[in-house]
Amino acid sequence: MRALVKSRPEPGLWLEDVPVPGIGINDVLIRVLRTGICGTDLHIYAWDAWASKTIPTPMTIGHEFVGEIVELGSNVTDFAPGDIVSGEGHLVCGRCRNCMAGLRHLCNRTQGVGVNRPGAFADYISLPVTNIWKHAPGIDLDVAAIFDPYGNAVHTALTFPLLGEDVLITGAGPIGLMAAAVARQASARHVVITDVNDYRLELARRMGVTRAVDSRATRLQDVQTELGMREGFDVALEMSGNPSAFREMLDNMSHGGRIAMLGIPSEEIAIDWNKVVFNMLTIKGIYGRQMYETWYMMTVLLQCGLDISPVITHRFEAADYEEAFATAASGKAGKVILLWNEPTDRR
Ligand code: NAD
Ligand code: ZN
Repeated sequence: MRALVKSRPEPGLWLEDVPVPGIGINDVLIRVLRTGICGTDLHIYAWDAWASKTIPTPMTIGHEFVGEIVELGSNVTDFAPGDIVSGEGHLVCGRCRNCMAGLRHLCNRTQGVGVNRPGAFADYISLPVTNIWKHAPGIDLDVAAIFDPYGNAVHTALTFPLLGEDVLITGAGPIGLMAAAVARQASARHVVITDVNDYRLELARRMGVTRAVDSRATRLQDVQTELGMREGFDVALEMSGNPSAFREMLDNMSHGGRIAMLGIPSEEIAIDWNKVVFNMLTIKGIYGRQMYETWYMMTVLLQCGLDISPVITHRFEAADYEEAFATAASGKAGKVILLWNEPTDRR
């Protein structure tokens, strides 16, 4: 089968012919239909410091995908060939305190699909049945392919109640954009998003935010005045990983404001902790998705009319992955989809 492999410890990726993965008694074999390119994949392509200390080679990469089940292990009874599914990209140990308590997203021994074990940028992927999410009928295949980052957006956006609140999102990357749409759906009053990239600010406007703010040109204090806000943002979602974005966020929170942090900073960030203490701010780190309450919410939000499709801006055949990766890395893109196979049975 075809697979996009980090075959050597150097920049680049190579489309190679590799064996179809085997399955154990508790696994399913999935024929991959479409995949999404994530920032993690760009780091692996570029072979930066994080990638070179994390990824063993050779490794088939990729974790955002939708596919159809083609084969079941002998213990698997509740799925069938032809089921349209995605995979939760974090495999948990099942044995630590949190796993035993049903808090699987807090497992301290996770393995990452396409990071520590073979990924989804291939014609087939094998995964334990415990990591499979069966899609509800009628979910668009491109949207199904990006359930993983959509899940990051939903997990972060629904961490604190949003009804009637003024919400600030820093970073209009694919996840920030989807979080903005979720905040709208959750009946926030104002949804203000910041970025430093014109293309993405324009995408944000198309997704219906209250204000898409270029933080190079406009101060959030002025946006608050313009919107008639008097006490600061009630809830903020940090989705840029950028130190100055985070500091400006801290300056614009209401007393008692709540911050959910998904963005991964590339280095330590110094902040004025006085603001956190005297303004009694809550800051909560967010990683991955809750298994599987987030997946449930993702599905029902779409059924309630949430539309995240504007975030998908480009589609390429898998063979054209070089162009797809260059597009994703250019910043002039939302989510980039790679097309691997057509479904055999459109149900
Ligand atoms: P992305 O890199 O595409 O988006 C980040 C955006 O932040 C970009 O559009 C960039 O222009 C913008 N930005 C840069 N400087 C800014 C500034 N000063 N003010 C406002 N915006 C600024 O990433 P993404 O895929 O949308 O993911 C968002 C973040 O979440 C990234 O940091 C990513 O590493 C992280 N992430 C975390 C998890 C997790 O589980 N915690 C999972 C996936 C991604
Ligand atoms: Zn565990």
